[in-house]
Amino acid sequence: MLFDTHVHLNADQFMEDRDEVIQRALDEGVEYMVVVGFDRKTIPLAIEIAEQNDFIYAAVGWHPVDAIDMTDEDLKWIEELSKHPKVVAIGEMGLDYHWDKSPHDVQKEVFRKQINLAKKVNMPIIIHNREATEDIVQILKEENAQECGGIMHCYNDVIDYAEECLELGFYISLGGPVTFKNAADPKIVAEEVPLERLLIETDCPFLAPHPNRGKRNEPAYVKLVAEKIAEIREISLEEVARQTTENAKKLFSIE
Ligand SMILES: [Zn+2]
Ligand SMILES: [Zn+2]
Repeated sequence: MLFDTHVHLNADQFMEDRDEVIQRALDEGVEYMVVVGFDRKTIPLAIEIAEQNDFIYAAVGWHPVDAIDMTDEDLKWIEELSKHPKVVAIGEMGLDYHWDKSPHDVQKEVFRKQINLAKKVNMPIIIHNREATEDIVQILKEENAQECGGIMHCYNDVIDYAEECLELGFYISLGGPVTFKNAADPKIVAEEVPLERLLIETDCPFLAPHPNRGKRNEPAYVKLVAEKIAEIREISLEEVARQTTENAKKLFSIE
């Protein structure tokens, strides 16, 4: 029983064999997934995939890399879609300082607008963070994001910031990097964060876990993430799977 909380089955990389990819995930024990849409093209596809599969849910939001493209109409559209029965979260949203397409101030503005939308519609948020943890934590505090809560997706920074996010009621989600030989921070996070606040994800098609690093990632590989966390915490895979699934169902209000 595994819950992959962050997949992009709506990405071009899965256009040819999506059904087979989903079947492989089911065969590996993946019982639930959330497909994340983040722009005009990927949002409708996320909803479509969720409508076609009982065990797949959708999240809708605007990616920080493309923040400069988001209009007021887009934000209204996301609000409308949040009422869809299979939509369980707003996001991904956040800050990405790795790419230059959208200036930081524009990213921050779009991030703040989406946090406030999530509070209005009473849904958790999914946070994308690249090289911007300090600013993200500050904005979460300033916007009282503890009122909606959510996920620090593919968390990849020091434990101190993770603890600040936990204090705000957020969940920490670990992906492929926790399995990388040279990744120190995610391993510390995997050990220190209380199990009832931990989630697992693939972020596929990106960030495939070891030993598939560099290849196309897919939801079946979320088991490799769970196995690594079990190894680090010295508990069983079953316990990691059961608790992270329970956490995700609680956060997304599933069942
Ligand atoms: Zn992301
Ligand atoms: Zn993503």
